[in-house]
Amino acid sequence: MSPPLHPQLEALNLSLRDPEAFWADPAARIHWHRKPYKALTRRRKTLPSGVEHEHWSWFPGGELSTTYNCVDRHVLAGRGSDVAIVWESPVTNTTEKYTYQQLLDEVEVLAGVLQEEGVRKGDVVIIYMPMIPAALIAALAITRLGAIHSAVFGGFAATSLAQRIEAARPKAIMTASCGIEGTKGAIAYRPLVEGAIAASTFKPLKTIIWQRDQLRWHHPDRLSGQRPWQRLVKSARARGIRAAAVPVASAHPLYIIYTSGTTGLPKGVVREAGGHAVGLELSIRSLFGIKGPGDVMFCASDIGWVVGHSYILYAPLLVGATTVLYEGKPVGTPDAGAFWRVVEKNAVNVLFTAPTALRAIRKEDGGNVLFREVARRGGLKSLRALFLAGERSEPSIVREYQELLAEYAAKGALVVDNWWSSESGSPISGVAVNAGAAVPGLGGEGVAPLAIRPGSAGLPMPGFDVRIVDDEGVEVPRGTMGNIVMAAPLAPTAFTTLFEDEERFYRGYLKRFNGRWLDTGDAGLIDEDGYVHIMSRSDDVINVAAHRFSTGQIEQTILSHPSISEASVVGIPDSLKGHLPFAFIQLKADADNNAEGALPATAPPELTKEVNTLVREQIGAIATLGGIIQGRGMIPKTRSGKTLRRVLRELLENGTQGNFEKPVNVPPTVEDAAVVEVARGRVKEYFEAKAKTKAKL
Ligand code: AMP
Repeated sequence: MSPPLHPQLEALNLSLRDPEAFWADPAARIHWHRKPYKALTRRRKTLPSGVEHEHWSWFPGGELSTTYNCVDRHVLAGRGSDVAIVWESPVTNTTEKYTYQQLLDEVEVLAGVLQEEGVRKGDVVIIYMPMIPAALIAALAITRLGAIHSAVFGGFAATSLAQRIEAARPKAIMTASCGIEGTKGAIAYRPLVEGAIAASTFKPLKTIIWQRDQLRWHHPDRLSGQRPWQRLVKSARARGIRAAAVPVASAHPLYIIYTSGTTGLPKGVVREAGGHAVGLELSIRSLFGIKGPGDVMFCASDIGWVVGHSYILYAPLLVGATTVLYEGKPVGTPDAGAFWRVVEKNAVNVLFTAPTALRAIRKEDGGNVLFREVARRGGLKSLRALFLAGERSEPSIVREYQELLAEYAAKGALVVDNWWSSESGSPISGVAVNAGAAVPGLGGEGVAPLAIRPGSAGLPMPGFDVRIVDDEGVEVPRGTMGNIVMAAPLAPTAFTTLFEDEERFYRGYLKRFNGRWLDTGDAGLIDEDGYVHIMSRSDDVINVAAHRFSTGQIEQTILSHPSISEASVVGIPDSLKGHLPFAFIQLKADADNNAEGALPATAPPELTKEVNTLVREQIGAIATLGGIIQGRGMIPKTRSGKTLRRVLRELLENGTQGNFEKPVNVPPTVEDAAVVEVARGRVKEYFEAKAKTKAKL
């Protein structure tokens, strides 16, 4: 007889074999205004273009209010005095706490305000906010009305915001007078918001502005719909205006989150209300081990990213736990000990961050002096797990923090690399710290987690059927690298379509493997024991400091420079941020009559500066280039005209290691293999020049 399966695997198998049986228990933990009649339905769907693909729907027939589940029901259960949100803002020197009762009060009134401002069920409202409690209250108020929020990362430039306004056509934008960027001080949002609205052909009716004392938005322009948030709330409160929770169908969109795809235009990932609530509630209890009241989650992400949506806002509140909202950086606000002090001060049980943050902390806090300062006085005893996601965690960082936790954190505390995306809504793989919670009838206590395997992102989570296939879509043996795909249906938290663009959903995710598999865009392997290892992106998206950027979008920005005629962007390894975007460009002036190599490979500093200004203005500072190589006839293409970015990326990676002559994988479809050799020469020249400058310094 084979030994019994570990509960994490047992849960995974049951979820794939019998979704009805598996999801009944998690679904029963959600308050339904109307109960679903089934967990899952599946059918074939035909698109206007004639393509047919599988469509699935979670918890059909159900009606719920996510805000009711996150707030009202805890107050009704007598837990109104429990702390829902702790706001830690080192950049403003503030700590604030909201109990569930206070949160309900704020959310009810703000929802009433939004209703008075014309927001209705099904309307889209953009949230463009810094990390302040008002941002979370806004999301919950929008959701309360059955409206759909679309949060845009506060660090995005006006052009990126404009693109999202154009795509989402929001009735209103909720924003603030300023953000506070680390030590740089307050950054006015007004020019960004007004600039974005001016640049968009779609005009939202209202802009609701949260005034911050650090920098005010003077004299809001009433004629263009600018409204003072706090004053509206004050007036509504005085008049007793409040809004009740509006239930919506399971498949109703809860929010849209825009994410980079392989083309320049961001994709609007739609999260459905029912599957989101059920799947997220299970994930926070089972994977993260945040079980309910009294537990404290600190997710150091941003509400503009999916990790923030799920684990700052919704998941901790769904189970009635406390969430820590952090306005600051891992380092510099004021130092690299900030995270650990927040853990200590709030007795945090689970910390969730990106490896890039730990790399920054490690760099600043050599020898972990600041870490130990907190740890030695017992400040990290509450910590049961450190979750890492957004990009690959190198084994050394997992091991280092695993050792530190073993010494100073709660007994058995784990470092858990977990892999997921905006599309999946919750981790696709990881190691569940409370695996038993996912097994129906097991209850959740006393199950030892699976072993951590540094370098791997754990095993698939319930509902995610992860496979590795070759370029033809054929499954490869265990241990072999390939494309990471999933079989339909995806787990309940995951998307089922893109906002108003089902054709693009098909083109972007299903077409590559003829509808058989859903492409994640990631490449890697599954080892003998079922652990998933994520190695890189297989598409034209790069991951910079745990954020996705489309190379196409950065190229488009570079091409807006008047003297550049061609640009190709790839990721270059970076010790801090994982990858940085790096550009190969051809200048208009560098035409055919110039002798090859007439210009140095390194772009002049003025040009680099100008290009980076464009990138900052049109995308945001986090996409700043790590370097530019200029030259002519060095961008390899296929015979069908597709840029072979993979070849450039390999050349660059070899270049960073000084392996200039190392062979690269050139596909047989290359139009002119000689171009690869030109690029190789330029890469060599670039890195040799760089080494010389360094040597001089
Ligand atoms: P986003 O949708 O912006 O959250 O980006 C999702 C992408 O980030 C994934 O497709 C991966 O490429 C990458 N990613 C997220 N988590 C991990 C991880 N734990 N290991 C490796 N890559 C990751």
